[in-house]
Amino acid sequence: MSTFTRAGKEIQKRIRSFSGPLTESLVREPGAYGLGQVPSSVAPEATTSMVCGFCATGCSLNIHLRSGEATNLTANFDYPVNRGMACPKGWEALAPLKSNERATTPMLREKRGEAPRPVDWQTAAETFRDRFNPIIDEHGPESVAFLSTGQICSEEMAFLGSFAKFGMGMIHGDGNTRQCMATAVRAYKESFGFDSPPYTYEDFEESDVIVLVGSNLCIAHPIMWQRVLQNKRSPEIIVIDPRRTETAMQATQHVPIKPKSDLTFFYGLAHLLIDKGLLDNDFIREHCDDFEAFAEHVKDFTPDRVAEKSGIAIEELNALAELIGSGKRVSFWWTMGVNQSYEATRTAQSIINLALMTGNIGKPGTGANSITGQCNAMGSRLFSNTTNLLGGHDFEKEADRDKVAGILEIPTERIPDQNSLPYHAIIEGVNSGKIKGLWIIATNPAHSWIGREDFAAVLDNLDFLVVQDMYSTTETAACADLILPAAAWGEKDGTLINSERRIGIVKKVAKAPGEALTDFSIIKLLANVWGCGDWFKKWQNPEAAFEILQKLSKGQPCDISGIDGYRQIDEEGGVQWPYPAGTTKTEKQRRLFSDGEFFTANKKARFVYDTIGEDPEPPCNDYPMRLLTGRGSSSQWHTQTRTRQSAVLRKLGPKENYVELHPADAGSLGVSSGELITVASRRGSIQIKAFITSTVQKGTVFIPMHEETTNRLTLPSFDPHSHQPNYKSCAVKVEKRIS
Ligand code: SF4
Repeated sequence: MSTFTRAGKEIQKRIRSFSGPLTESLVREPGAYGLGQVPSSVAPEATTSMVCGFCATGCSLNIHLRSGEATNLTANFDYPVNRGMACPKGWEALAPLKSNERATTPMLREKRGEAPRPVDWQTAAETFRDRFNPIIDEHGPESVAFLSTGQICSEEMAFLGSFAKFGMGMIHGDGNTRQCMATAVRAYKESFGFDSPPYTYEDFEESDVIVLVGSNLCIAHPIMWQRVLQNKRSPEIIVIDPRRTETAMQATQHVPIKPKSDLTFFYGLAHLLIDKGLLDNDFIREHCDDFEAFAEHVKDFTPDRVAEKSGIAIEELNALAELIGSGKRVSFWWTMGVNQSYEATRTAQSIINLALMTGNIGKPGTGANSITGQCNAMGSRLFSNTTNLLGGHDFEKEADRDKVAGILEIPTERIPDQNSLPYHAIIEGVNSGKIKGLWIIATNPAHSWIGREDFAAVLDNLDFLVVQDMYSTTETAACADLILPAAAWGEKDGTLINSERRIGIVKKVAKAPGEALTDFSIIKLLANVWGCGDWFKKWQNPEAAFEILQKLSKGQPCDISGIDGYRQIDEEGGVQWPYPAGTTKTEKQRRLFSDGEFFTANKKARFVYDTIGEDPEPPCNDYPMRLLTGRGSSSQWHTQTRTRQSAVLRKLGPKENYVELHPADAGSLGVSSGELITVASRRGSIQIKAFITSTVQKGTVFIPMHEETTNRLTLPSFDPHSHQPNYKSCAVKVEKRIS
């Protein structure tokens, strides 16, 4: 019996009126494209569970269906991540699917300045081919690029990266994970030999001392914070953050370091730990390299120097060093306050160094633990084929290219032997005219890119811009020549990998609107019309693609070849990597490095350190204050393309953007709370409501990142190792007048 609804049959009829091989393929394999299809993997009247598609916590939600459509959801009590809890975004996860801003049909803009018109998929796919191909022919493969995302399934992002690079011949493709996790990736690779967050969430409950750095867990990762609260060991909770955040207010200690003093501060703590002999010398000797040189390096970071730079008194520095050095189970956690900096990688490694020198790794309640942002940032890190070759391989290594080509059954020559440009260099390439064609998938850089005052003008430089998204109304989609309407989370099958390396499952529990297709199906269509569909014929559906990913991972630290497909992931509450063939252990919580062996050639971790970098834009006479940015509330997600579609989430979040200003600064400016004021940087100027609060330090202001105005101010500067944008700091002036 057909699984198609009436709408699906209409679409089928229309597809039959097309001609050509693409049409035949659509008609022959309708199920593989999912047009208007009733959910196939779930019974029509059922409750099924799947992981949330917002953040990297990876909570599981029970989805309740009636007549094959998701009607409601509850949090899953049996899942080892969230144990019956969900944050507001999770509870409202179905609402964004119903928005009338959904992209429902491909849209083509014939000329810039004209409104786009709806077209059928045949026209869309042929336009994609006929506009990209001449650019590549005339200007070479480096004249086109793609920007991927941490928001789609691993199978989709791997297919996307494979088609773009191996099929279309692109060299350059990066993802929006560059904006959040690139620093952790680079730091782990250099220190541990592979991008390997070592922890499991149980470590929140097993620690005696929890050190949170640049992480407002209460707001950004509320369910992880709930796990902290479930710790029965009465832990010391230390928050190191220039702002007195919601998390800092709940902590046992808040250490309000001055902005951008973090690297000096952590080198200073290392200095004190060495001075006080609070080291795990056996662990350092047996499992680490380069400690002596590191110890020499931190000799200069005397308590006087560190106190002066960080604003933390010497007695407090000593007390903190003793707490960390004498704690049996100390865990270090960091997120964007560290990652989004001009010296982010070395700061992350300064935290890793503290864990290594005190032996706090590989044991319950320990670890140097980066917390991920997007629901599938970890999937992107392993499988997006952007900066790593699929499965954590290396584009520049011939053996890796041969291995991947063999598994995919494609010619090795199709695999680029050079790394992609990082995100900011792609944008610079667009700006300079070197990159002329760009394909953006499930991300909204016209809102989120750093220092984006003239971003629309940058995109206008392109000869051809394709935006593939679930909404046609994002700031980026508004600039597109071609919009490809994509199914959302809940409208497709696949897997996501959370912060603790747990692979979780997502399922199709709702129909995508109109003619929207899953990202997987869109890529399949584009590959077929491009003429390289045969190379991807094994990528029949997401589960078949997952089997390919398993093969690609074999022999890598992230080996998942032993997982018994989607069935095991679904039945066992997710599966953490690694899970190589032959694995029989099925503990629900697994951490890395319990054997003291790292992923470097000699299996030892490395102490990595550097000189202190120069602040690219410190406050000055003209711009005397420092702007910090970050998450505003737990009901808002990034550029709010989804969360603003929920009436509940809109009510829970602030109605408009605001700037937090210290009472002393407000007093000297004569500004009252609620007053509209001007905040200006060298890039731009915005009018914004003042919110007077002592949670920010004197001389600093804080603006949430969720409104598009914020990034008119930020400074496009980047960590030299990870190329992650330095969102957290730039110089601004605040004026009472409205310009
Ligand atoms: Fe979803 Fe993250 Fe909220 Fe959990 S914490 S419900 S994964 S948004």
